[in-house]
Amino acid sequence: MDHFLYRDGALFAEDVAVAEIAAAVGTPFYVYSTATLLRHFRLFDEALAGMDHLVCYAMKANSNQAVLQTLAQAGAGMDVVSAGEYLRAKAAGVPGERIVFSGVGKTAAEIRLALEGGIRQFNVESEPEMVVLDATARSLGVVAPITIRVNPDVDAKTHAKIATGKSENKFGIPIARAREVYRMAAGMPGLDVVGIDVHIGSQLTDLAPFEQAYHKVAELTEALRADGHNIRRLDLGGGLGIPYERSNAAPPLPTDYGAMVKRTLGHLGCEIEIEPGRLIAGNAGLMVSEVIYVKSGEGRDFLILDGAMNDLIRPAMYDAWHDIVPVIEPEAGGEQAPIDIVGPVCESGDTFAKQRMMPPLVAGDLVAFRSAGAYGAVMSSEYNSRALIPEVMVKDDQFAVIRPRPTFDEMINRDTIPPWL
Ligand SMILES: *Cc1c(COP(=O)(O)O)cnc(C)c1O
Repeated sequence: MDHFLYRDGALFAEDVAVAEIAAAVGTPFYVYSTATLLRHFRLFDEALAGMDHLVCYAMKANSNQAVLQTLAQAGAGMDVVSAGEYLRAKAAGVPGERIVFSGVGKTAAEIRLALEGGIRQFNVESEPEMVVLDATARSLGVVAPITIRVNPDVDAKTHAKIATGKSENKFGIPIARAREVYRMAAGMPGLDVVGIDVHIGSQLTDLAPFEQAYHKVAELTEALRADGHNIRRLDLGGGLGIPYERSNAAPPLPTDYGAMVKRTLGHLGCEIEIEPGRLIAGNAGLMVSEVIYVKSGEGRDFLILDGAMNDLIRPAMYDAWHDIVPVIEPEAGGEQAPIDIVGPVCESGDTFAKQRMMPPLVAGDLVAFRSAGAYGAVMSSEYNSRALIPEVMVKDDQFAVIRPRPTFDEMINRDTIPPWL
């Protein structure tokens, strides 16, 4: 559920008309709903009630400071994957003991930064990383809390670019080798092994792959405890999918997910961490764009928007579907026709949807891409020297720009000219 609904024939973000925001900031832009962000965070928090737990928002999904502060004030921890994300989390007021550091290629400098600034745990992904972490911690005279990310070799049944739990993926250590690697970690004085980490992929629409992976984690917990490790924390990753296409069957809800976690892992008495990103931010955002032209081609028509692949790359990158709706509510049962919805960038990949059934639209009309709050703004670029589009946050009847559109001068002046020119 989100808070983007039609009211009297016009699309609203909470209690603000989307057209009013467009008039104030210009198109294209992203708009996020505070109520939706908080609702999704609380759904997860409540789904794990009864177990000692922490919901660590995977901030790579949307790392705007306003989004982070909204969630941090509600009690969220953060899952970070870089020094930049770590510093963003800190800047949003998240204490180190609520930040977990994931990622397959943490540098020594990133590790040092987090050890000095405070960290809940590192999710270690390889033996060489373990060696660097141990050495860095000892050089600082501290002990680094770690989990080891295991690769359970399960098929997440999602898009290949966001599947991470098969043995061919670069992530984690093979679960078959886990006991050996844990033994190695236990021998390193700079490390404190606190638990196990697993993350099998993103946009999962079925609980079965999670359940398979978590059964393996349960078995591994018992085995590691038998080996003498004090396994007390399980980080179960993120990955629960969202309904991008309204007409499709809805993916499982956080409550179903929470019940499954209790069923498969509850008996172990571990503290549970989860790292949802997409499910918290995805449906909390729209990308709003204006129709520039309606162009008739041979056998097909094109809706040319002022938004493009540089603003929202998911369709080009993951063949992703976004529901695209007019900001003025179309008549129920009114006329619809197939049309290709594209941006102005000079690439055929700059296509948001092919032969999408849409009501009649004309130049100047506004459309909204639904479910654009996660992996939207954060993956945008200035390709074609198109300025990064602004981000706006809504709370009840208020809205505020939370990242302004840069001016062209700002863009140009970011480059520096070498002395020989
Ligand atoms: C990307 C990622 C997440 C978040 O995944 P979502 O599908 O957005 O929930 C969580 N943990 C790790 C380690 C990740 O890489």
